[in-house]
Amino acid sequence: MNILFMGPPGAGKGTQAAAVVNDFGIPHISTGDAFRLAIKQETPIGIKAKEYMDQGLLVPDDVTIGIVAERLQQSDCEKGFLLDGFPRTLSQAEALEGILSQLNTRLDHVINLKVDRDKLLARLTGRRICKDCGATYHVIFNPSKQEGVCDIDGGQLYQRSDDNEESVGKRLDEYINKTAPLLDFYESKSLLRQINGEQDIDTVSTDIVSILRG
Ligand SMILES: [Zn+2]
Repeated sequence: MNILFMGPPGAGKGTQAAAVVNDFGIPHISTGDAFRLAIKQETPIGIKAKEYMDQGLLVPDDVTIGIVAERLQQSDCEKGFLLDGFPRTLSQAEALEGILSQLNTRLDHVINLKVDRDKLLARLTGRRICKDCGATYHVIFNPSKQEGVCDIDGGQLYQRSDDNEESVGKRLDEYINKTAPLLDFYESKSLLRQINGEQDIDTVSTDIVSILRG
C-alpha cells in the first residue's frame, strides 16, 4: 500500500498518518526524517545534502528527490509506505512518478484532509501560553478553566505573535496556492481521495481506513 498524505497545517495530518502506519505496518516517510537518515548513514546523496545545509543554502530539488528515491528503496518500504510532505510541487510529483515506476510500483491513494479555511484559522490561532510557567492551552481543544488565566499558577495567558490571524492566514494561503496544482494532478490520475477533516478524529480515521481497505 503506497499512500501519499496531504492536508494543510491544522488539519490533523500527523495524528491520522500515525494511525495509518500503525494499522498497515508501513513506514511514515517525511522529508525531514529522510534527510536525517541519509545524513546519518552518510549516503552519497546525504553527504551532498549536508553540504548545502551546513552552508545554510536551500537544498536543490534534485537532491531532495534523490533523498526520497533512496529512502523508498530501503527494505522497510517493501510492503508500502506513507509519504508525507513530499511532493510539494508539480515537478516533484512528476519526479515521484518516475522514481516509483523505476521501482515497478505506483501510488495507490492520495489522501487529502479537507478542512475549511476558517476552521483551520480557528484551530491554528487558538494556542495560548502562560507567561509565567510556559504551559500551553488551546481555546477549543484544551481551554484553561478561567479564560486567559493559567490553571497551574494563575499566570496570564498570551498568544504568540506567529499564531495571530494574519501570519497564520498567510501560511494557509501559501499552502493552498502551492498545493492546488498537485491536487489537480492527482485528481486527473484518479488517485485523489478527499476526506472530511472537520469531523472528530475517530470518524476521520474510520473514513481513511475504509478507503484504504477499499
Ligand atoms: Zn502558568
